[in-house]
Amino acid sequence: MTAPIKTQWQLEDADALYGISKWGAGYFGLNKQGNVCVTPDPTKDHLQIDFAAVIEEIKQENIQFPVVVRFHDVLRNQVAQLNETFQKIIAEANYQGLYRGVYPVKVNQMREVVEEIVEAGAPYHYGLEAGSKAELLTVMAYNTTHDALTILNGYKDEEFMHLALLAQRLGRKVVIVIEKFSELHLIVKVAKEIGIDPIIGVRAKMSVKGRGKWEGSGGDRAKFGLTISEIINAARLLKSQDMGHCLQLLHFHIGSQLTDIRAVKEAINEGALIYAEMHHLGFPLQYVDIGGGLGIDYDGTKSTSDSSRNYTLDEYVADVVYGMQEVCDLEKVPHPTLVSESGRAITAHHSCVITEIVGEIRPDSAEVSVEAVSGEHILVTNMRELAQNMDTMENTQEIYNDASQYKEQASDAFKFRVVDIEELAKVETLYWQIMNRLRIRLQGAEFVPEELQTLDFDLSSQYLCNFSIFQSAADTWAIDQILPVIPLTRHLEKPTVNCSLVDITCDSDGKLDKFTVGREISNVIPMHALNREEDYYLGLFLTGAYQDVMGDMHNLFGRLNEVHIFSYDDDPDDFYIEEIVRGSSVENVLSIMQYNPSSMAKDVKRLIDKEVSAGNIKPREGVKLTDFYENCLSGYTYLKR
Ligand SMILES: *Cc1c(COP(=O)(O)O)cnc(C)c1O
Repeated sequence: MTAPIKTQWQLEDADALYGISKWGAGYFGLNKQGNVCVTPDPTKDHLQIDFAAVIEEIKQENIQFPVVVRFHDVLRNQVAQLNETFQKIIAEANYQGLYRGVYPVKVNQMREVVEEIVEAGAPYHYGLEAGSKAELLTVMAYNTTHDALTILNGYKDEEFMHLALLAQRLGRKVVIVIEKFSELHLIVKVAKEIGIDPIIGVRAKMSVKGRGKWEGSGGDRAKFGLTISEIINAARLLKSQDMGHCLQLLHFHIGSQLTDIRAVKEAINEGALIYAEMHHLGFPLQYVDIGGGLGIDYDGTKSTSDSSRNYTLDEYVADVVYGMQEVCDLEKVPHPTLVSESGRAITAHHSCVITEIVGEIRPDSAEVSVEAVSGEHILVTNMRELAQNMDTMENTQEIYNDASQYKEQASDAFKFRVVDIEELAKVETLYWQIMNRLRIRLQGAEFVPEELQTLDFDLSSQYLCNFSIFQSAADTWAIDQILPVIPLTRHLEKPTVNCSLVDITCDSDGKLDKFTVGREISNVIPMHALNREEDYYLGLFLTGAYQDVMGDMHNLFGRLNEVHIFSYDDDPDDFYIEEIVRGSSVENVLSIMQYNPSSMAKDVKRLIDKEVSAGNIKPREGVKLTDFYENCLSGYTYLKR
């Protein structure tokens, strides 16, 4: 018996193509209806939320796309996973210290995000980290968990130190991390004035560098941190001021999105040695803070590519715990309390952007009739004959050369007024017909001439997405980060259109043309053919870390509408929308740029009134125009469907 030939497109094919189960981390998958769904708590997989139902509810609530969707359960689950993994491995290793993690708010400072993390982290005494004055003011108010740490990184002035000590008087466990030596004099001065013993940390400049985009966070040229000699001097200075006991924490952070576990191991080893040596010198630190850097497998390759990581959470935590333990045991010093500052790994999965495709741009989108007319230019005839004869020609390169040459010549001839505009349109139409047929002919060919290798890309569609890369996916533009982007429905159908994605900003950089497709990185991604009856929605995933809050005002699009989703067992769709946060209105973004929308509305009204008085606009129409202008001012900045 021969094996049955697999002809039908199946869910597994869609999953393999888009890599959902690879980057989805157990949260995202496909359901039987062919839609993307989210399992907010992978340990309770009967709770599944279908994106089609989410889209439906968003429409019913009259919320315009694009929309940021936050899954609060995912956020909670990530907090629990990190803390429980540390607890589990600390117990397994019989490690004598505790784990007291903190969430660095710079990764996503949205109030709802911070609140959720604090609440979910309370059972684990999970704290917050701040790197600026505004963030410190935030964490002072929000880090209410007893015994949780507040870690303060970043450069500080006197006011910052005052605030920090105020927080300490309010009962917060605040650690002031010294980033450069001169801050030490400041903290000594302020502490003496107020009469409080601060908890002081020092950030070490590490010799090990992280690998990946942020490797500059380590090494001699790192912006933050003290050298070994500075650390020793700092400790001695504190001791001379009777503040030696205040020095309690050693901090290091070798970069974000660490792609290679070897960098983690090396950093732990180096940090553990510094900690042990400080003990030997008579400075018994209590905490070692290993910073952030726990990576996310954005491209699903489990590799050391910049958008991936070659380790799991368990491996990361085990390397931290066992690595620290080994050095401490050898050096005969106590195991310190471990602190980590993972931000990306906590928040990346919890939010995504849903947007709709509002159009398709193709080079060959328009065709004119190419019928022969008497007296036409020879170039049109040549191109038509090439199209007629190409199936009998062996050499694809020759077909390509001839077609390109005729097209170029026709374009020159047009400039000399030898070919008219209708003839030029015929040449163009025939050219793209030939290219399309060449592309089909080359599919699966063993050898593709170099010039023809980009044919797929040249002929690919651009799907126009109703969003701004600069607002919603800044890192794809700024540092070439790959973020997964996939259709949210129709996965029972084979996607047949190769396309790249462009946004609605008028910036030609506003595009996504780097995707993981199967096991390859490609500049086009297969999507489904658009049809008129049905809207087509895409999800841009793993946007919860940095992307959510780094967006800028390019083209004045501003913040997106947001819906916050909670899973709920008793609901037929397993969820409810707990909160809707309206995105920027045109008025909002104009005010930020110092315009005065209400006086603009008055000015436009005055202009309309003038035209009404002059009899150029009917009064009724004038009122409508005024209302229309005002409605647009208070409306959403993105495209309306
Ligand atoms: C940015 C930053 C973090 C967070 O890093 P992730 O890679 O997002 O975990 C932690 N600590 C410090 C000092 C940082 O600057």
